[in-house]
Amino acid sequence: VAAGHAPASPAKESADALIALAEEVTACTACPRLTAYRQEVARRPPARYRSETYWARPLPGFGDPMARLLLVGLAPAAHGGNRTGRMFTGDGSADFLVSALFRHGFANQPTSTHRHDGLRLWDAYMTAVVRCAPPDNRPLPEEVRQCRRFLLRERSLLPRVRVVVCLGKVAWDGYLAARRDMGCAPVRASFAHGAEVQLPEGVLLLASYHPSRQNTQTRRLTPAMMDAVLLRARRALEEGP
Ligand code: SF4
Repeated sequence: VAAGHAPASPAKESADALIALAEEVTACTACPRLTAYRQEVARRPPARYRSETYWARPLPGFGDPMARLLLVGLAPAAHGGNRTGRMFTGDGSADFLVSALFRHGFANQPTSTHRHDGLRLWDAYMTAVVRCAPPDNRPLPEEVRQCRRFLLRERSLLPRVRVVVCLGKVAWDGYLAARRDMGCAPVRASFAHGAEVQLPEGVLLLASYHPSRQNTQTRRLTPAMMDAVLLRARRALEEGP
């Protein structure tokens, strides 16, 4: 450290590294099918979004670099994150999830409509196992594998994470695969809504159904069910290590 310059705080270092990673993520074209699809969707939006310029690029994570709660989703939605340029923003899944985060003190507002809507996450960070919108919300296994390097790097830049909530089975399996790649001891853990596993590295892993419209409109996932998972996360954070 040069004389007269204070060392950067861990929060600043983490935030700077996440910004650098975000630039790399948003320039990625490693999956030809997804690169084509996210742009194709943007060229032919539905009537209600015809006046908008779609983001149409991969999405970096979003939230507090010093977060203790990490939420891992599946992938951006074609007309949600792929349109607005921010994770869980601009669609029904976003409304469902962010209103729940707000109820549990992890967000400053209950809505997530566009990138400049003032949403801030407190002690929480949202990411996904795949960064580009996939057709039918179904990434191929090789696309999940290809994108894992970004989840690994993002996870390594979030030093305070103590609770990880995986939204859906693909996210659950993807997070477990990522931690294996990080050299963590393997664990046997099957996905089910409400499942939890205390990981040996000191992280509590929680499972929720994904807040897709299909799940929320059929009430396979209700606000009360989402609340129960976030309440468990909040309690674990309050209990301390
Ligand atoms: S899904 Fe991930 S690895 Fe594939 S193109 Fe998008 S950002 Fe790159």
